[in-house]
Amino acid sequence: MTTGFTMTIAGKAMAGATEYDVLDPADETVAGRAPVCSPEQLDQAVAAARAAFPGWSGTPFEERRKLVLAVADAVEAQLEPLKRLLTREQGKSLDDAAGEILGFGYWLRGTAALSLPETVNEDSGERLSVTRRIPLGVVGAIVPWNYPLGNAGFKIAPALLAGNTMVWKPSPFTPLVTLRVGEILRDVLPPGVLNVVSGDAALGPRMTGHPGIDMISYTGSTRTGRQVMAGAAPTLTRVTLELGGNDPAIVLPDVDVPAVAEKLFWGAFANSGQVCLAIKRLYIHRDVYEPLKRALAACAATVRSGPGTEPGVRLGPVQNRPQYDRVLDLLHDSRASGHTFAAGGLPQPRDQERPGYFVPVTLVDNPPEDSRIVQEEQFGPVLPLLRFDDVEDAVTRANAGEYGLGASVWSADPEAALAVGRRLEAGTVWINEVQHLTPDVTFAGHKQSGLGSEGGPEGLLEFTTPRTITLRRSDAASTTTA
Ligand code: NAD
Repeated sequence: MTTGFTMTIAGKAMAGATEYDVLDPADETVAGRAPVCSPEQLDQAVAAARAAFPGWSGTPFEERRKLVLAVADAVEAQLEPLKRLLTREQGKSLDDAAGEILGFGYWLRGTAALSLPETVNEDSGERLSVTRRIPLGVVGAIVPWNYPLGNAGFKIAPALLAGNTMVWKPSPFTPLVTLRVGEILRDVLPPGVLNVVSGDAALGPRMTGHPGIDMISYTGSTRTGRQVMAGAAPTLTRVTLELGGNDPAIVLPDVDVPAVAEKLFWGAFANSGQVCLAIKRLYIHRDVYEPLKRALAACAATVRSGPGTEPGVRLGPVQNRPQYDRVLDLLHDSRASGHTFAAGGLPQPRDQERPGYFVPVTLVDNPPEDSRIVQEEQFGPVLPLLRFDDVEDAVTRANAGEYGLGASVWSADPEAALAVGRRLEAGTVWINEVQHLTPDVTFAGHKQSGLGSEGGPEGLLEFTTPRTITLRRSDAASTTTA
C-alpha cells in the first residue's frame, strides 16, 4: 500500500477530515488511502481558486502557455512511479498506464499550441469594436475512473491555457494518481491555480451546486450527466458534459478480414472495453460475418488477461465492483436469453470466488437487436457481433438509441465507407480506424452522449466567454485601441 496522499489546496498539502481505502481491482487489496474532502475544505479549495483567478487570468497568454508545457514536463518526469500507481489503482497494464501518462503530456503540448481568436467587428472613424474570449473563472473538473489522467488532460490543458483556475476531482475509485499529480504540480503552478480534492459520493454533487464555481467540466455516464446538469441549474453554472456511448462499427462486405480483425478487436477491447469511444456494437455484413467472427475469436483466445503488473498482460480487470457486477449482470441476461458466445462468457464460479474483477473477453454471437447487451453501454470486455444483410438496415440500427458519441465504418472502398459514414449520428465518425484523437481536433457527443465539446479550437472556446468592447470615437482621426 502506498501512503501519504494529500489534497492540494492553495498550493499546500491538505489531509482529509477522514480517509478511505482505494482498492486494487486486480486483487482487492488496499492500493492506498485517499483523503475525504469535507464541505469546509471544498469551500477552501474554491476560495483558493477564486483568489488565484485575477493573477492567473492576468498572466500573459504566452506565459500561461509555458506553464502548461511545464505541467506536461513535470508529470512525464515522474512516469515510472506514476505508471505503477496508475496500474495499481486502475488495473490497466503497465504499458497502457505509461501510454496514458504520456498521452496526458501529448494533449497538454498540443493544446498549448492553440490560440484564442480576436475579432475586430468595426474599426471606423465612429467606433472601434473588438470581441475577445475571456476565461470564465473557477472551473470544476469531474473525471471518471477509466482514464483518470487522460480524461483530466482534456480539461486541464484548455482551462488553464484560457486563464481559468481549477478544482479537480477524480473518481472516488481512482484518486491516487490525481492526488500525486497535484503534489507534483505544487512547485510548477502558482498557488491556487490548480486545486485537487478527493472524496466520497457526496463531493461531486457539492461541486456542481457550489456558488463559487463558474463552470463544471464533466466526463462520465449519461445518467450522472443529467444529475450534473440539474445540480448546476440553480446557479446557472455552465456545463460541458462528455457522456456515455454505445458506438457502432459497420463492416462492409469488401473488407480484408485478416487485415481488419485485430484493429476491430482492439477498438472494442482496449482497456478491457472501458473506453467511452470503444466499439460497443459490431455490425458485420453477412458475407464476412463467419470469417470475421472466427478471426475475432482467435484474437480473444490469444490475448493475455490478468493483473496489469504481470509481464505480457494486455487486458486488466474491470476497474471496480459495481461495474464488474453490471457487466456480469449483462452476461447473465445474455445467457438467460439463450444467446451463444463465440468467445468467453460468464467467469467460472471458482474464478468469481477469487479476488479481482476479471471478466473473460466475450463475443456474443448475433444476439437480437433489442437485447440488453446491444441496447445498453456495457463498458467492459463484452462485444455483441450483429449480422446484417442490407446496409440500410445497418445504418438504421446503428443510429437507433439515445447515444451519439463515436462510430466507424470499415471497407476497402473509401468512397462507399464515407457515404455510409456521413449518415451516422455521432460526433466523430472514423473510416477504417477508430479512437484516433488529436488535440487540434474537436470531439463532441451528439444526442445524449454530451453537451459541448472537448479538444481543438472549439474545445478551448468552451472554457471562455465572449466579451465585446466598443469604443465610440469622438472624431474620425482617433486611433485609440479597445
Ligand atoms: P460516473 O458518472 O459514475 O462518475 C463520473 C464522475 O462523476 C466521478 O468522478 C463521480 O464521483 C462523479 N459523480 C457521480 N455522481 C455525481 C453527481 N451527482 N454530481 C456530480 N458528480 C458526480 O461515471 P463512471 O462510471 O466513473 O465512468 C464511466 C462512464 O463515463 C461511461 O458511461 C463512459 O462512457 C463515460 N465516459 C465518457 C467519456 C467521454 O469523453 N464522452 C470519456 C470517458 C468515460
